[in-house]
Amino acid sequence: MSVRVRFAPSPTGHVHIGNIRAAIFNWLFARHEGGRFLLRIEDTDRERSTPEACQTLLEAMAWLGLDYDEPPVYQSTRREAHLAAAEELLARGYAYREDKGGTGRGECIVFRMPSTSIEFDDLVKGSLKKPASDLHDFVIVRSDGTPVFHLANVVDDIAMGITHVIRGDDHVENTFRHIALFRALGAPVPKYAHLPMIVNRQGRPYSKRDGAAYVGEFRERGILADALFNYLALLGWSPGDGRELLSRRELIELFTLERVQTSPAQFDMDKLLWMNAQYMRALPPAERLAGHMKDLNAHGLAPDPEYLLRVLEVMQDRIKLFSQTTEQTIYFFTEDYPVDEDAWARRWRRPGVPAAVAQLRERWMSTPFQGAPLEATLKEVAAAAGRPPADLIHAVRLAVSGTPTGPGLYAMLEVLGRERTLARLDRALARARAEGYE
Ligand code: GLU
Repeated sequence: MSVRVRFAPSPTGHVHIGNIRAAIFNWLFARHEGGRFLLRIEDTDRERSTPEACQTLLEAMAWLGLDYDEPPVYQSTRREAHLAAAEELLARGYAYREDKGGTGRGECIVFRMPSTSIEFDDLVKGSLKKPASDLHDFVIVRSDGTPVFHLANVVDDIAMGITHVIRGDDHVENTFRHIALFRALGAPVPKYAHLPMIVNRQGRPYSKRDGAAYVGEFRERGILADALFNYLALLGWSPGDGRELLSRRELIELFTLERVQTSPAQFDMDKLLWMNAQYMRALPPAERLAGHMKDLNAHGLAPDPEYLLRVLEVMQDRIKLFSQTTEQTIYFFTEDYPVDEDAWARRWRRPGVPAAVAQLRERWMSTPFQGAPLEATLKEVAAAAGRPPADLIHAVRLAVSGTPTGPGLYAMLEVLGRERTLARLDRALARARAEGYE
């Protein structure tokens, strides 16, 4: 029997990473098994599932390369099939009509749960069982005539020939009801794989409050589709050999449900950023350069591409999103860069430091502007002034970049060049003097 799986989201205008992770696992499973990956849009909530909400969903899937093998099924178009199934259940004694409110305004249709326990073998969680005493009858068609989620979900899974239901473990409770429905409708019960919850650092369900939670937000922040795909594939699954950077081809080859973990998967933004940096670096050079350039342009900066490449050589490891380019590199491109005032007070409001920097500045006028000689000169000047080299290193770094963190000082100075460096030291010295420090 060939595998048929589906992603069955209820569009709301946002695509939560937990949902898209389920799509990715279904997609990988289908591709690994040579089966089919289908899309069913559970759009029966007409208020939330607007055409725009559906569009957002389709865009997120296209962006992530989650292609489906048959035209999407819109659940809202299947109402007659849902109601026909309810009639069949009524006719065969698996359901009954009831006037819930006792108002006489209309009857709903209630599914009669079996009087025996229900058990299934979840491909992730193992054997799960509910005793008959915990199984209660439930409504499948409301008194206004609309089918309830459980009925629609199962009837559509039957119609689509779904063999494996892979979804979040918030649906485990529903599964007992769904199995009873499959049986009552005389259909084979699919295999189930319930994916572990995605949690925050505190172990609670990962939500909007924890940071970016929707696919669109990651995209806007500059996370690459391949990086997000790779990261989410590892959220609850691993190849088992410690590898983390995996191409789509490798993921397809390695993916099995047996390796889905049972414990909750903790969302780690730092790791996603690290992964994004790896994917940025792997892009073709022209594309990479264009990504950085776009962010600089958006901030009114348009550097020479050759110079930008040299900046990137020293800054690459620190830029984990294209959208961080300007904030991380601004001082390479303009004299109008912010200065960390706390660091300034620490590094420059110290008698003797400005004088030593002034001597260094004089020496650097004629020092070859390369790492080794720049460093040697700085050490000589520090020794002559009876100061640790760090005093000068920190002061110079702050003067030329405005920030106490950054790449290696000498590599940075080489890129900045003599002219910019000396001019910035002059400005810093003037400021120190004006503040009364020599
Ligand atoms: N629409 C449901 C959801 O988004 C479908 C669950 C399922 O995959 O069966 O949670």
